[in-house]
Amino acid sequence: MDNAKKFFCGIDIGSSATKVVLLDQNRNIVDMEAMQKGVGVDNVEKLLKNIYKRHPEISESQLICASTGYGRFSCKEASVQISEITCHAKGVFYLVPHARTIIDIGGQDSKGIRLSDRGTVEEFVMNDKCAAGTGRFLDVMSQVLGLELSKLGEVDQKSDKEIKISNTCTVFAESEVISHLAAKEKTENIVAGIHRSAASKVASLVKRLFITDTVVLTGGVAQNSGILRALSKELGKNIVTPKFPQFTGALGAAIYALEKYAL
Ligand code: ADP
Repeated sequence: MDNAKKFFCGIDIGSSATKVVLLDQNRNIVDMEAMQKGVGVDNVEKLLKNIYKRHPEISESQLICASTGYGRFSCKEASVQISEITCHAKGVFYLVPHARTIIDIGGQDSKGIRLSDRGTVEEFVMNDKCAAGTGRFLDVMSQVLGLELSKLGEVDQKSDKEIKISNTCTVFAESEVISHLAAKEKTENIVAGIHRSAASKVASLVKRLFITDTVVLTGGVAQNSGILRALSKELGKNIVTPKFPQFTGALGAAIYALEKYAL
């Protein structure tokens, strides 16, 4: 039997980005990387190649992979597949152990998850039917405004009011934003209104759960401080983000693999 150290890789194949997190058998995070674009399964090959390149001490027989996310069943490298809900729960429980409410905003869906004191899922709600309140809504709006997605939070901070975006449908909201631009409204105030509109959609979803303190925001959209601000206002709660919010699902998958295969 092979006594060599084992490593556990969580692979999250999302609708927008592919993420990997590597854990050693002592639950330490050893590495992580994301590819924001491209085909999920092709990205997995590249991301794993990069791991072997950066860690020549790890051989293929030492690495155990678990996959999650929208594309998890097409991942031939994974020994096991787990739902995103379970993975976000495990990832957040590892990073912020006292948190009991998770809001995850990804590329094409948003979710609310309530955790038990043991870190298991007690209840969850999900929107994967409508782009409003997901990363897709913000991707479209950043293109209309000609702003980089990563700059939206910074721009929001300069706002002195929120321009109301009345349409929840992404296509109609896009036309509304174009009209506000034509009316010479300040870009930062339009951005603040866009964030408020997305946050109100997410808030109405997660309010179906019993929302406990501490609320943790995960997913790629959690990198946008404007969404964090607007969501705190909508829910009347202080919301925190873990250090690497987009990697929580992949981290949870790595933890699952470790718990299943470590012994
Ligand atoms: P999925 O798992 O569905 O692929 P992610 O949790 O990876 O989704 O989040 C992807 C979304 O994150 C993108 O649609 C984009 O809106 C948002 N995003 C990615 N990078 C950034 C960034 N630097 N700043 C703000 N938002 C970002």
